Amino acid sequence: MSDIIMPKPLPMEGLVDCHCHCDYSIDATGTIEQFCEAALQRNLAEICFTTHFDANPHTQGDIEYIRVKGQNLPTTVENLAPYVDDVRAAADKFYPRGLSVKLGIEIGWYRGCEEIVAEMTNRYNFDYLLCGIHELDNICFCSRHGHERFFARFNAEQVAEKYFTEVIAAARTDLFDTIAHLAYYLRSGIEYYSDSILDAHRPYLQDTFDTLIATETGIEINTSALRHGLKDYYPPVKIINAARKAGVDVNFLGSDAHSPEQVGFDFEAASALVPDPLRGCEE
Ligand SMILES: [Zn+2]
Ligand SMILES: [Zn+2]
Repeated sequence: MSDIIMPKPLPMEGLVDCHCHCDYSIDATGTIEQFCEAALQRNLAEICFTTHFDANPHTQGDIEYIRVKGQNLPTTVENLAPYVDDVRAAADKFYPRGLSVKLGIEIGWYRGCEEIVAEMTNRYNFDYLLCGIHELDNICFCSRHGHERFFARFNAEQVAEKYFTEVIAAARTDLFDTIAHLAYYLRSGIEYYSDSILDAHRPYLQDTFDTLIATETGIEINTSALRHGLKDYYPPVKIINAARKAGVDVNFLGSDAHSPEQVGFDFEAASALVPDPLRGCEE
């Protein structure tokens, strides 16, 4: 534990972090137990693990893996078993210490993923299914290498149109509790297109909100945008407010932590945006 930096305690108790990547995600560091210790240190009441599951057979990016006991294994439903067991074991261990530990997953969206998601939910009893839209036209638009390859082909309006078309398609499957980091194209898009991309979502918001409401799919407030150098969250506060006004479920806070010190990242400020910040993943 000595090389793990622990986060500072939050001034308030009882918040929930619904989006955390322990080292079963190949881009994350820190074990499930180290994340749970960090959550306790941060005064959280609950942590939900949402390991990446990227299995798009048509991806034009790198093949993705799940890291199991230090080994990169293919993203198959079967290979998730040790992750599921480890989260459940942590739930038993940390509950007496005042921390609820939930089993979630962040499924990388692609058209046709319904079958593998059904296989996954039949086999494991997930508390929380998060839909992460990271690829458009089978190209990752958020990686350092991929985004220019994708953005070079489109203007800001076309990127937003493509992105929200996939949000609507994902919500219509009725499989997911929540769409992760809405408007994630801003991560690299602001640098690429400058501020012109900040309003590109406007023509698509109403249809997106209508679909989210009809399918009871929520959105999260994802604070990782500040770590990516943005001055706002995913989605920006003006979209959060518009979504809530329209009737979209916006009750989840997610740090998208990829290391224990990022657990509950910026929740000091973000918790003010959630009407019931104690609401946990199971609801
Ligand atoms: Zn994501
Ligand atoms: Zn994530």
